Amino acid sequence: MTGSPRPVAADPVSAPRSPARGFPLGTLAYAALVAVAVFLAATTPFSGYVLNILMQAATYAIAVIGLTVVLGLCGQINLAQAAFFGIGAYAVGLGTVDLGISFWLCLPIGLVLALILGAVLGASTLRLGGHYLAMVTISFQQILTLIMINWIPVTHGPDGVPNIKRPGLFTDGQSYLALCVLVLAAVAYAVWRMPKTRLGRAMRAVRDNELAAGVTGIDIYRTKVMAFAIGALLAGLGGGLFAGSFTYISPDQFSFAESVVFLTMALLGGVGSPVGAVIGTGLLILIPEWLRFLKEIPGLYLAIYGLAVILIVVFMPEGIWGFLGDQVKRLRPRKAAPRAQDLTLTQDAATAAPVLEVEGLSKHFGGLKAVDEVSFTVTRGGIHALIGPNGSGKTTTLNVLSGLYTPTGGRLRLNGRDITRFAPHQRAGSGLGRTFQNIRLFRSMSALENVVIGAERPGNGIVAHDRASLEARARAALAFVGLEARADEPISSFSYGHQRLVEIARALAGNPVLLLLDEPAAGLNSSEKVALTALLRRMAAKGLTILIIDHDMTLVSDVASHITVLNFGRRIADGVTATVLREPAVIEAYLGQESTEGPGAGLKTDLAPA
Ligand code: ADP
Ligand code: MG
Repeated sequence: MTGSPRPVAADPVSAPRSPARGFPLGTLAYAALVAVAVFLAATTPFSGYVLNILMQAATYAIAVIGLTVVLGLCGQINLAQAAFFGIGAYAVGLGTVDLGISFWLCLPIGLVLALILGAVLGASTLRLGGHYLAMVTISFQQILTLIMINWIPVTHGPDGVPNIKRPGLFTDGQSYLALCVLVLAAVAYAVWRMPKTRLGRAMRAVRDNELAAGVTGIDIYRTKVMAFAIGALLAGLGGGLFAGSFTYISPDQFSFAESVVFLTMALLGGVGSPVGAVIGTGLLILIPEWLRFLKEIPGLYLAIYGLAVILIVVFMPEGIWGFLGDQVKRLRPRKAAPRAQDLTLTQDAATAAPVLEVEGLSKHFGGLKAVDEVSFTVTRGGIHALIGPNGSGKTTTLNVLSGLYTPTGGRLRLNGRDITRFAPHQRAGSGLGRTFQNIRLFRSMSALENVVIGAERPGNGIVAHDRASLEARARAALAFVGLEARADEPISSFSYGHQRLVEIARALAGNPVLLLLDEPAAGLNSSEKVALTALLRRMAAKGLTILIIDHDMTLVSDVASHITVLNFGRRIADGVTATVLREPAVIEAYLGQESTEGPGAGLKTDLAPA
């Protein structure tokens, strides 16, 4: 921009990262763009008609950006956005007209009301999720519409509220439009930055993979409620400004149909970004204006309008900005990654208790005793294997350990602390890390971002939670599994085996007290298995305690010092590796009636699922 050539770094690997260089430049450019837009809004002599369209677009866009947060970032549906929009609008309308309060006081009142109602609605329904959430938000929307129409003494009923006051400095249309544009720009900026914040990352993680988010230490429920409340707040903000734009509001402007319009705008523009929200809002407000000349022929207008929307959605499923943004990203040059540090893992040696104590653990699914009174103890340091034929209850045990299933009976202690009643994110917070049998990564993120979420684990003990420390930690974890060079690539570009490694790095980054690995060798080719064995050894050498499930007996007998064997949900053996592998019950469980050879025969091979 300045015309002076950028200094070429002698060593691109250790060159300072760009935050000091890239980010403020973008922000400055954005600020300049906003200043121009605000200036144009304030000074261009628009006709009253155009002015109305622009004010509607600006205030609607704020509410649609609310959907970017709740639906785009967090993946939760909200079909009551118009109701929250109405709450902000009525706060400004009734406040300035009936109560004679200043606009500047009414607006925040509306925001707080929308925020509280959003939080309450979210808190009471987000545990349900999916279709229920959609149903409940629709009901909320309908109830609010009924209140606006029928509570006549307060809301003025269907007649609506006329003569709404604008704030002192912004009484004429031009300056008020400038105010709306300024607020829109600020909101768009905040939401644009959001995905890279801790809360934003948590929201994306919940959207991408709830189970994985929970076991990585994210409070799923709290994250969803926050997203929902922020979405409602932005709708309230848009609504408050909307009331001032038209100085007249009525219930039909905040009906369910409008909620659908908001949703369509978000999906059309691209729900993943505030830019999409602005594009979608602009288009849906402008297309009807462009098609005005068709109004002579009844029906044709609606048909073309509907067709245009369908075509866009079909050919750009990620919305218009989702489509354009991808092209832009492809053009952007890749930054050189800084050199990764060595990964530190600290073990809490203060407590003498074993790392994990499992006592009489049971998990029944109806009549099926998937896990039946299983007890074992994992001591500090080294690798403990949990083995058994397919369907013997290994994964179920791990799911109970990490809190995804509530046990039917039994107790769990981690570092001497009873965690039996803990939620998954609380167990993660106590130091339990895990990977899944069928890999669960956050699909929309880069490898680095996945691992940053792991590093963010509450109570990890060694990682400062500023962005630079988290990224350095994540790079160190990726370097440990050998993927440092590919840190910034999207998850989809990794092979199956490498995705496994990213998942392990994600857990390692959180400095776990105990790492649970569910069949890490499954689906790997033989050279990948060799590499995995080496990785397991290096982790153990760092003093990490690992509980591993695997079918591959070569791998298990190579790395594990201790083995617990399950069969039909019951513990059939437990002890030092060499001894356990010789026990007749174990050989029987694996080989059935065909075990005519000597003790331990066949166990050195890769056993097929029973
Ligand atoms: P493993 O990991 O040892 O192969 P699992 O723990 O996955 O075995 O399964 C143990 C048994 O529990 C199997 O019979 C399986 O079908 C059953 N099971 C596992 N999860 C569920 C569930 N969510 N609902 C009902 N049955 C289940
Ligand atoms: Mg399993």
